[in-house]
Amino acid sequence: MRRERGPIVQKVSQTDPEYRSAIEEARLRGGQAEHTFGENVLLAQGNSRLEMVSKSRQKFYDLIRDPAILLAIAEEIKTDQALYHELAVLFRTMDYDFDSVMLRLYSRFKKVPDKLYIRILQCHGAVMEKRKEHYHALKERWEGTIKSRFFVLMQKYGVTYRGHVFDDRINQLVFSFFDPLLARMRGAHAHYRRDIDAIENAIFEKNERGERILDHEILHALSGQTIVRRVRRENPYQKSPHEPTSTFGVQRVGLHLFPHLVSRFFWMNEGVTERLARELGGHQEFYYAYQQDMVKALCTKGRIEIPFELFVKAYFERYDTRKPYGKRIRAWDRLRKAINGAYDEGFLIRLDNFITREKDKILLDEQKKRRKEITTKDKIEAEKEVLQTALRLMDTDWRLIKEQ
Ligand SMILES: [Zn+2]
Repeated sequence: MRRERGPIVQKVSQTDPEYRSAIEEARLRGGQAEHTFGENVLLAQGNSRLEMVSKSRQKFYDLIRDPAILLAIAEEIKTDQALYHELAVLFRTMDYDFDSVMLRLYSRFKKVPDKLYIRILQCHGAVMEKRKEHYHALKERWEGTIKSRFFVLMQKYGVTYRGHVFDDRINQLVFSFFDPLLARMRGAHAHYRRDIDAIENAIFEKNERGERILDHEILHALSGQTIVRRVRRENPYQKSPHEPTSTFGVQRVGLHLFPHLVSRFFWMNEGVTERLARELGGHQEFYYAYQQDMVKALCTKGRIEIPFELFVKAYFERYDTRKPYGKRIRAWDRLRKAINGAYDEGFLIRLDNFITREKDKILLDEQKKRRKEITTKDKIEAEKEVLQTALRLMDTDWRLIKEQ
């Protein structure tokens, strides 16, 4: 008799109580609280602090290597005149010239005594407090308009999205403000975290931009998901009571899939999200231009045109555990069929493999050339480059997109 070994995998609904409490636990573990860079240094007391200070100083030094961050920090320091003057004296910039204080902050940072470094952190903390307030005010204003704007968009694409589902999602979500210095370490200024069902934001700039970012992230959060529960099989020889018997995972957010250990259609999901975000807010400025162009190309470059509406319907489709198998993700099935019909069977996977493989090639070359770690910025640049190539090929003939 064959023995099953792997865990039992079941799809569950987003409102499954066990799933929701697992999210709550993950939030507590993952510290979704609003943190500021250096906060732990300022809070810690005694000897542990000395070690923390030197560790955080190294991190800070690495961060200000980025000119944009250096400039932001220098601007912050300027809000504390006493600190600014002390640094100017330390750096011997007698004219208190902003540019020279800024430049020396980096080149002579190692000479800044701990005491002054801690004051830089305090100054940063004070600025963050103001930005946090600004963010919460912005969010409150945004909350006043999002529901009606969202339903206008749903109507345009003929998507059935129930009012109570929208309300439930808004209530389930956690929104938190993030220090841009910490966000940069995580690689983005705002993101929807599927593991804790939260929107984390490091936005503090102009309102217009802040609202656009919130529009983009809320679409990720409201898009359809496929959630699975993995239940460990009973093993009489190996009992460890500390391990939970079931764990949860999100296999899909919108059009972005995460089957076992891989990520698929990231570009397609971002392209659709940003196009919808633009329509949601009438925003002029936008991100992910090439991803949007690629979705457009996918709609128009095949044998027959695919309506964008099909992408939108699949994007918002929630995996329906109450329906019989085969009918649970019908909008996805329709989209897949349309793409297979306009191109060849399996074309979407081929395109995705092409993008991933070419991107990896560029990143590997970069790594060899510079012998340093690949940043999120490098990844975004690489994807841009690959999408440009893929778009050129699609313009000529989609059959030129090959796996090898
Ligand atoms: Zn996004």
